[in-house]
Parts: sequence; C-alpha cells; structure tokens
Amino acid sequence: MDRAGIYLDHNATTPLAPEALEAMMPFLREAYGNPSGASHRHGAEARDAVEAARGEIAKLMGAGQAEIVFTSCATESNNLAIKGIAWAMRERGDTIVTTAIEHRSVLGPCRRLESDGFRIRTVAVDGEGRVDPASVAAAIDDRTILVTVMHANSEVGTIQDVAAIGRICREKGVPFHTDATQSLGKIPVDVGEIGCALLTASGHKIYGPKGAGVLYIRRRTRLVPLLDGGGQERDRRSGTLNVPAIVGFGVACRLARERMDGDAQRERALRERLRVGIFARVEGVHLNGPLEGRLPGNLNLSFDGLDGQALIESLKNVSASSGSACAAGSTDPSYVLRAMGMSEERAFGSVRFGIGRGNTEEQIAYALEEIARAVAKLRRLSAAP
Ligand code: PLP
Repeated sequence: MDRAGIYLDHNATTPLAPEALEAMMPFLREAYGNPSGASHRHGAEARDAVEAARGEIAKLMGAGQAEIVFTSCATESNNLAIKGIAWAMRERGDTIVTTAIEHRSVLGPCRRLESDGFRIRTVAVDGEGRVDPASVAAAIDDRTILVTVMHANSEVGTIQDVAAIGRICREKGVPFHTDATQSLGKIPVDVGEIGCALLTASGHKIYGPKGAGVLYIRRRTRLVPLLDGGGQERDRRSGTLNVPAIVGFGVACRLARERMDGDAQRERALRERLRVGIFARVEGVHLNGPLEGRLPGNLNLSFDGLDGQALIESLKNVSASSGSACAAGSTDPSYVLRAMGMSEERAFGSVRFGIGRGNTEEQIAYALEEIARAVAKLRRLSAAP
C-alpha cells in the first residue's frame, strides 16, 4: 500500500499529473519571462506557452481561444462571472436565478449582491439533487440578468441537464453561467452544446496545479472586471499571469481529452465496487444522490447513527471527506444534503469518497475493509453503556 495512504478525495483536489509537473518546471526555473507586453525573447517564450495552454483548454470545452480568460481559481471565475454580469447589466435588471446546491463560491457572490440590492431567486432541487429545467424557466422574469446553475455537484456528483437550461436561457435572452469545476475533464463539456455565455473551471480538479482557473466568456458578453490594472486578458482580468500553473493546466486538459473515456470507465467500475461492497458489509447505509447521471468517481453515503466526520477521522490510511467539512472549519451539516430534503442526522452522517485516476482495485479492497471496520467500531462504542 502507498505510504501516503489511499487518497479517496479527488473531488476536493487531485494530484498533479507528472506530465504537467514536467512541463511546468522550465517556467519555474529559466523561462521566467512575463507573457504580457514585452517584445523580447523571454516574454515571447512565456506568451507562446500561455497561448498553447489556452488552446488546449479551449479545445477541451469546445470554445474559441479568445474566449478563455485565466484567473487564479474557480472561486475567482465564479465571482467574476456573477458580479461581472450583475454590474454590467444593472440597468437591464436586478435578478439572479440560482439553486440551493451551488458551491459556496457561487452562493457567496450571490449573497454579497443581495446585500447590495440585487434579488436572488433560488430554485429547489429534488431528493437526488436534480434541478428541473422547468423550475428554472418559471423563475426567470423580465428582471432576470443571469442564471447560474452548476454542471455537476461537488458533494453528490449529480449532473444537471445544463443543455436544457441553456436552451431556456437563450430563448429568454438571459446569459447562462455554469460552474463546470467538477465536470470538466470527467465528462464531456462543450460550451456550444450547453449554450452557456460563461463557464467556470479549475486546474487542480483535473490533475493540474493549484493556482490556475479559467472563465469561458462567450464573444460579445458584457462583463465588468473584478480586477482593474494592466488590462491583461483582453481587459477582463488584470494581473501578471501565473505562467507555470497555466502551462500545467494546459497539459492537464490535453491529458483529460486523451484519457477521459478510459478514466471514467475505470473510476465508475471502482466506485461501484466500493458502493456494492459497503452495502454488502455495512447495515444502515444510504446512497446520497443518484446512481445514474452522476460523476463517475463520486460516491456519497450516509451511515445511520454515525457522525461522518468521526468516521473519516477513524479511517486508517484512507483519505475521504465529510459533507460538513466542505468549507474550511465548518461543522454544519451539509447544506447540499439538507436542500435535497435529508434530515440533519442523515446529513451529519455523510461521507464523500472521490475516486480518481491513481486508484486501484487493491486500494478499493483495502478501503472497503477499513470502512467496515471503522463503522463497526464506532457503532460498538456508541452502543456501549
Ligand atoms: N466550484 C465547485 C463546484 C467546486 O467543487 C470547487 C472546489 O471545491 C470550486 C468551485 C472552487 O474551486 P477553487 O478551489 O479552484 O477555487
């Protein structure tokens, strides 16, 4: 077994692909030029590398190269999309339509805008975390300036029918933003098929480095930048580009394009092995989220009578996460599971397993035994007088 333990938290972040690391190294050492503006050789070298990465990222999502804006992370991309549109469209309306299960980096900017006088309309989800496109249509009115609905959920892996939502938005003339941070590189993502004006993604979720995100912005979309300054990224996002991270992100996107189908098949098979194995060995366990229409590597389970956080802390050599630990330091029950109609107890008892590229059958077999052991032990302890 891996000395570092078995990593089953790929929805939180992924290890850096060796190919991405290798491509990044020259840009951390000798190729340190600033890609913006400078006409000398050092600048041109960095600029060429950034543009090659931009091309790879654009290709993975079916976008034009000029529609890709580099940011520092998906959190920044979501803030830029939501606040940028709200500020640009202020004269046209004041309402943003979203869902109750978005990542905090979507809900946070929405709350901020609400306190600045914007109106937020939150669409409900069903028991498996699915948004009904008809509910989105019903929530749009003549004051709506943006619809933001995530592609795949980070906790339960539910994949939304974003193409249907995109069609509705186009018919109603409202820009559609989707947070594809969990889906890009895992399942097909095509901005044309989705029909979105804006799409968010992040390097570190797809075996790229931390520190690089992107926002796809469809041509002619009006948006006010968050950062004003040197006018980089066609004036959408000022600031010197993080060249090594962008280069690594580009390589990660190329690898994702080459490996997506194979990875998805393998991860789904391992996920099913883990799910079926746990259900066979452990009583009082529930699947959160759907079986179909779910990210291939995601498994979210609730264990009756257990605290998910206590369970993951007692797993030896297995890294997973509990719903309540999704935001740093939070011990609240997962708001995603609560919005799906689950009781507080079931939400507290949830654990998320995120299977990824490096996991093997042997690791899953070990994790299975370890989970069964830890659950039995915690239940014994809590049953003791
Ligand atoms: N959006 C979703 C759906 C996520 O899962 C995450 C990370 O967990 C983010 C946004 C934030 O990503 P980043 O760490 O790149 O800011």
